[in-house]
Amino acid sequence: MSKLEEYALIVGQSVIDELKLLAERLEGKVIQNINSTAVGGGVAEILHRMLPLLKELEVDARWDLIKGGETFFQVTKKFHNALHGQSEKITPKMFDAFMETSQQNIDEIDTYGDIVFVHDPQPIALIHKKKLEPEQKWIWRCHIDVSRPRPQVWNFLKKFIFDYDACVFSAPAFSQKLPVRQFLITPSIDPLSDKNKELPQGYIESVLEKYGITRDKPIITQISRFDYLKDPVGVIEAFLKVRKYNDCQLVLAGGTATDDPEAAQVLEEVRRAADGHSDIYILSIPPGSDLEINALQRASTIIVQKSIKEGFGLTVSEALWKARPVVASAVGGIPLQITHKYSGLLCHSIEGVAFGIKQLLNSPEYAKKLGENGREHVKQNFLLTRHLRDYLLVFLSLYDSQEIVYL
Ligand code: UDP
Repeated sequence: MSKLEEYALIVGQSVIDELKLLAERLEGKVIQNINSTAVGGGVAEILHRMLPLLKELEVDARWDLIKGGETFFQVTKKFHNALHGQSEKITPKMFDAFMETSQQNIDEIDTYGDIVFVHDPQPIALIHKKKLEPEQKWIWRCHIDVSRPRPQVWNFLKKFIFDYDACVFSAPAFSQKLPVRQFLITPSIDPLSDKNKELPQGYIESVLEKYGITRDKPIITQISRFDYLKDPVGVIEAFLKVRKYNDCQLVLAGGTATDDPEAAQVLEEVRRAADGHSDIYILSIPPGSDLEINALQRASTIIVQKSIKEGFGLTVSEALWKARPVVASAVGGIPLQITHKYSGLLCHSIEGVAFGIKQLLNSPEYAKKLGENGREHVKQNFLLTRHLRDYLLVFLSLYDSQEIVYL
């Protein structure tokens, strides 16, 4: 069975037929995605799933990476934090370092696409190449919550954004005043990926066994990169409050993204906070262990996502798709995924997370219902097929009708 037929079984044949219709109209166009990392984090996750499907739809979509050294990624991490609204000290020298690496990428990267689809701030300066190929269409896809960016970084990036043909943001709250067309497109998860597909119970149990996690008490889990904005230490604090009343265990599972130099430091702080608590499991999961992440999510009694800032929060969709009850911060794209008390619980503090976890542990029927509602919401709104449809429509909207193949 082709992948498209497999998706049809989940979302219905009419959705697939529409994708084929839109894809046909892009015949002859090359879509070139560019970002900064092939593994770790949501952007890489989505591209890995989207490209094969585009291929099956006979859209010529490709993926290239920019290069950068430690200094460059330290600066772009600061950009990332500042775009999320955090205070960051960014010196002129750091901006120069960003431009220096950007220039190397401008010199080295072949931007051959008819549509160049640039993801996030790291490769944003490649737009300077547009002047050489005025026919090309350039889109900047921002996966970050830029509802309250620090002006220093936003004003710097704006100079590049102005030259793009269009921008894509993940949620209405993130849109900005820009003289460029904007599209609001939520990300998605792939129900057929190793991260999300159904798993045999035996495999799930074997993963728990591998990490020494027992089944004798409820499992509370947060899956996230070790990043301050995911607040893993806050999760530990909430868990310790819950554990005074309910016997349970905590799993914090995360890997590191190659473009995130802060991760080792955060992991160290997390280990320190968990020190002496044998019921807290800190798992450093290598990239590509999607089946294990899937198994940990499916084995969890409750999934937490206590982010301080969040672009969209794919981990929330992943958890809801598995019909898990979720307790998550009301930040970034999370409220798009969770309607409070209907498809999960939203919270605003460590105390709120602790309260939500306790409530769900004490009301398993309620927790089950939230999980089921969450799964249905994800099915309707956050699966790959919907995301793909939105992107195809954006690509088509960049052309006059004469430039597109209408069959
Ligand atoms: N992820 C993973 N391994 C980890 C931590 C995260 O595979 O150790 C995945 C997670 O399952 C999700 C993505 O990375 O698919 C994270 O996306 P999200 O939007 O939640 O956050 P981001 O990392 O992009 O800020």
